[in-house]
Amino acid sequence: MELLRDYIVVGFGIAGLCFCEHLERNSKSFIVFDDDSQQSSWVAGGMYNPVILKRFTLAWNAVSQQEFALPFYRSLEAKLNESFLVPLKVYRKFASIEEQNLWFEAMDKPQMDQFMSSKILQNENPHVKASYGFGQLEGVGRLKVRNLITAYRKRLEAMNSFVFEQFDFDQLQFQDNVVSYKGYKAKQIVFATGYGLKSNPLFKELPLQGTKGELVLIEAADLKLEAILKAGVFLLPLGDDRYYVGATYNWNDKTNKPSEKAKKELLSKLDKLIDGPYKVIDHIAGIRPTVIDRRPLVGRHLEIQNAYVLNGMGTRGVLVAPTLSKQLYEYIEEGSALDLEIDVQRFYNKA
Ligand SMILES: Cc1cc2nc3c(=O)[nH]c(=O)nc-3n(C[C@H](O)[C@H](O)[C@H](O)COP(=O)(O)OP(=O)(O)OC[C@H]3O[C@@H](n4cnc5c(N)ncnc54)[C@H](O)[C@@H]3O)c2cc1C
Repeated sequence: MELLRDYIVVGFGIAGLCFCEHLERNSKSFIVFDDDSQQSSWVAGGMYNPVILKRFTLAWNAVSQQEFALPFYRSLEAKLNESFLVPLKVYRKFASIEEQNLWFEAMDKPQMDQFMSSKILQNENPHVKASYGFGQLEGVGRLKVRNLITAYRKRLEAMNSFVFEQFDFDQLQFQDNVVSYKGYKAKQIVFATGYGLKSNPLFKELPLQGTKGELVLIEAADLKLEAILKAGVFLLPLGDDRYYVGATYNWNDKTNKPSEKAKKELLSKLDKLIDGPYKVIDHIAGIRPTVIDRRPLVGRHLEIQNAYVLNGMGTRGVLVAPTLSKQLYEYIEEGSALDLEIDVQRFYNKA
């Protein structure tokens, strides 16, 4: 007789991965399907930073999300015997004295002083253009998302718990509280397919918007940056004189294909930030799963009791995915309530 697993998980970006980790922590059996059709987690710069650097405000629930996310990723480092977290400072370039003043005003807001330093840094790097200096953020950094996905996926493959294929919705059946897909059977199914949600007949009506983002990878031997620089673009040091330059926001194009227009935009902003030679090594793109009301999409299908969605990680998947996947797990297994802000029910109610 075919094995009855606890879960089928469709999608193995950062959201699917974090959900699988909660399943493993709770000794649940599962099988994952992914076809690499969406690239958001794969191309992400991986920054974690609770502060919105345009307005000097905190992102939604970001402090508690970070408090949960960092130990969560550290435990994955121990489990997979590889390092994924890279603590880095962020230097926010000031464009004027007014911006310096706004920085100091923002420091008085609750919880901001744990990230924002009160000292204005003068620019000492001859290859950086920053005559008004920088504000410095601490307690922030980067998750090597690609390395984490690769390592976790390898582990699942070794356990025969990962299937590389496009999920075929025509083969999916629900009967007597059991989900059947091809030869597989499970008690529950969770879709964590990022922008791929658009082709899921069960959840495609949800208002996932999708925002394309592009990055270029450069090599700049003279730059010698050890912090993330943020101005019109961010410049993220990866080691070996390589940096990501990002990112763009495009609400119309829904392909994963890098565009000349975005590359030009990024390089023209980069030229305003640095002096000196650099070489473009790569150019990548993905669709961020953003939602009309800027909140995630988590919860149960309106009619099918064992079909769930974990989506809408938006622009901050690294910080939000560990908490949201835990909330979904506890909702399914322990009957905990979901925050109304994230529950997909908010859209069903409007229908
Ligand atoms: C350029 C760029 C830079 C970014 N930088 C950052 C950053 O610095 N920090 C940060 O926190 N966030 C960043 N983000 C946002 C972050 O990437 C997202 O919030 C996050 O990756 C979303 O994860 P996800 O798992 O929901 O979706 P995805 O990563 O899109 O994963 C969905 C998975 O589902 C699979 N899938 C889809 N449909 C099917 C199907 N039918 N069958 C099988 N598999 C399927 C896909 O192949 C994919 O692996 C960035 C995004 C972009 C595009």
